[in-house]
Amino acid sequence: MPGCLYLVATPIGNLSDLSSRAIETLETVDFIAAEDTRVTVKLLNHLELKKPMVSYHRHNEESGGTVILDRILGGETCALVSDAGTPAISDPGEDLVLRCAEQGIEVISIPGPCALVNALALSGLPTGRFCFEGFLAMNKKNRREHLSELQNETRTMIFYEAPHKLPSTLCDLRDAFGPDRRISLCRELTKLHEEVKRTTLGEAASYYEETKPRGEFVLVVEGAKPIVKEVEGLELRLQRVQLLRQEGLSLRDAARRVAEETGTSRKELYDAALNV
Ligand code: SAM
Repeated sequence: MPGCLYLVATPIGNLSDLSSRAIETLETVDFIAAEDTRVTVKLLNHLELKKPMVSYHRHNEESGGTVILDRILGGETCALVSDAGTPAISDPGEDLVLRCAEQGIEVISIPGPCALVNALALSGLPTGRFCFEGFLAMNKKNRREHLSELQNETRTMIFYEAPHKLPSTLCDLRDAFGPDRRISLCRELTKLHEEVKRTTLGEAASYYEETKPRGEFVLVVEGAKPIVKEVEGLELRLQRVQLLRQEGLSLRDAARRVAEETGTSRKELYDAALNV
């Protein structure tokens, strides 16, 4: 009888964010697969817990994954953890989950901190529809292609970025989406110096040309305004109002948003929507 794989989310800063279910899982599994055992041992020391560990990181996914799978197939249970946050989200794990699924091994997620979800919730930008874009490529050509694919993206976009690359990434985002597009820079979430800067791409790029970024960042960028042609008329605008209502906006706010997007009368839309 095979064991199973637990995906255990760990804190992204504040140790108190480790759930009791996560602790219980770390205590009871046979072994832990860690992205960096030196990082995870600190967490285990904090819990006063000793547990056998194996390394599982992006450079040994194939061989490390095979070791883990063989042990689980032999009946052991494993907790996969990354350095911080949810495994498999811009962290190792995606491949191991697939390999377990292919072998009929049960995978159980122990949910918890995830920087992108935290940042989105704090951003003040629409949360109803969003896309997670991870890290932009280092390579200039791939980065340009990625950004050009997002040119007409109307959903809120979320990016991870390392501090030393933040100034150039902000310039690239400003050049791709224009200086007036709104951005929320979510820094050091759950830590002592947690900060959310809600501004525009133009202002953020200028600020970080002058100021050295410190700490970890998630960038939450407003989506493009949907293009609604006037000829398509009231019906389409009402559909958009309906969509925003489903995303949680009140009728008044949805009508105001669509009126702003389309440069038409809020009252006309509000009255028409009331009659639908
Ligand atoms: N698996 C993790 C998760 O669930 O969020 C993400 C790991 S990814 C390798 C690391 C990136 O997540 C950082 O470069 C940063 O963009 C973001 N991040 C992680 N912790 C953060 C924090 N406390 N505040 C802001 N961003 C953070």
